[in-house]
Amino acid sequence: MLKKQNLATVVIFGRTNVGKSTLFNCLTEKSQALVSNAEGTTRDSNISQVEWQGRKFTIIDTGGILDLKYLAGKKIKTNDIEAKVQQQAREYLKKADLILFTVDNKAGLLPQDRQMALLLKKEVPTEKIILVVNKTDSPSKRANIMDFYKLGLSEPIPVSAASGSGTGDLLDIVIKKIKSSKNTDTPIVLENQIKVCILGKPNVGKSSLLNSILGYERVIVSPIPHTTREPQDTEIEYEDYSIKLIDTAGISRKGRKTKGLEKHGIDKTLAVLKKADLALMVFDISEELTKQESKIAEEIINRKKSLILIANKWDLITEKDVVKFTQYIHSSLPFAQFAPIQFVSALTKLKIKKIMDLIIEIKKNREIKISDSQLAKFLNSIVKIHKPAKGKGKKHPRLYKLSQVKINPPQFELNIGTKDDLHFSYVRFIENRLREKFNFTGSPLSIKVKKESSRK
Ligand code: GDP
Repeated sequence: MLKKQNLATVVIFGRTNVGKSTLFNCLTEKSQALVSNAEGTTRDSNISQVEWQGRKFTIIDTGGILDLKYLAGKKIKTNDIEAKVQQQAREYLKKADLILFTVDNKAGLLPQDRQMALLLKKEVPTEKIILVVNKTDSPSKRANIMDFYKLGLSEPIPVSAASGSGTGDLLDIVIKKIKSSKNTDTPIVLENQIKVCILGKPNVGKSSLLNSILGYERVIVSPIPHTTREPQDTEIEYEDYSIKLIDTAGISRKGRKTKGLEKHGIDKTLAVLKKADLALMVFDISEELTKQESKIAEEIINRKKSLILIANKWDLITEKDVVKFTQYIHSSLPFAQFAPIQFVSALTKLKIKKIMDLIIEIKKNREIKISDSQLAKFLNSIVKIHKPAKGKGKKHPRLYKLSQVKINPPQFELNIGTKDDLHFSYVRFIENRLREKFNFTGSPLSIKVKKESSRK
């Protein structure tokens, strides 16, 4: 049954050093955000899911650097990393269902808080804003919160993100507010989830691709290394599916120059692969495919993961001869013939939607179940085209039955006579015909040959 997972988004917003990351950590009960007393140390947005009273929502920490000049609409150079951070934070604000506008009780109400509140009210309706007065660490501090009424927002909610006090009440309020505006009851329906990882060697455009997929700049793409630090997964909704992108922070983390880098790269790849159903293997089509890339593709296939080959930087190619490039890719990665190839440009966002559609198509393909009767007909027809090839035996083997024993990924069993031996090329022939007849695009497929006696 298809069910849409539609989580509300709650954004933590406020000037630098009010304790947004600590609040984020406290609410997610995980240590994903980077906390420090130094100003401006949290520069990436952090996303996580919070569950409270059996309800889930997504929480985003915008970091401590949202520049008022930017929010006020003043121009900032677009290729500047700072500008990207600003754009990103602003996007989150606009898309949010609720904003936790956070102020600092210790510092008191500062002119910058007032300015931010004013600008915030221009961007989003006041009923979406919850005023959180952080660092209310002691009862004596509670009296101070009155001052924050001057911001003209809702009632100030005192909390101490460091000790956790008041954060339960805050979560109650958050849930109540989002309950009235959005249905958060919908449980995550696992069957509708596909776990995807993005793999490839450095600099092929993985983080650029991720950004394009997310539709907004969640991960900062920049020539400056290590701009995204926290390992995490990101879930996005597409059509009726939830696509879980594995280790998205790791995608933009550049390989460190240590000895044995190549091996390390592969090791890391394998760890990420373990958690995924489908791998998007990105390569730079303006360059030659390397041995390392061929090894990565092989590992994906060995682990029975679905695969989409992403030929990125298509914009750099002047003679866009799809047939020629397809042949080149297939000859470089001969074992990955079943995988669809998608020519894209993460930079210009060309064909990104096509990747999303392919992901969903492959998810469905992994779960195709073919009935015994359909397979009996199929087996009959292919034996007519091609007599089963002999292995070591003298006579043509007898194929009794083909049945599908597993889905996700699809697995078949082929029963042959006890004394028969089937040549492996024939198994491949069956696999190819199966792919032709039933749509298994992008999915690994295995056929186990069993001798008749092993059937019950
Ligand atoms: P990663 O190391 O695989 O995550 O690669 P990045 O996403 O950081 O991209 C590396 C470089 O390639 C950056 O300078 C990107 O701007 C550039 N790049 C990424 N995708 C494309 C593309 O489709 N076309 C072009 N021309 N450049 C791209």
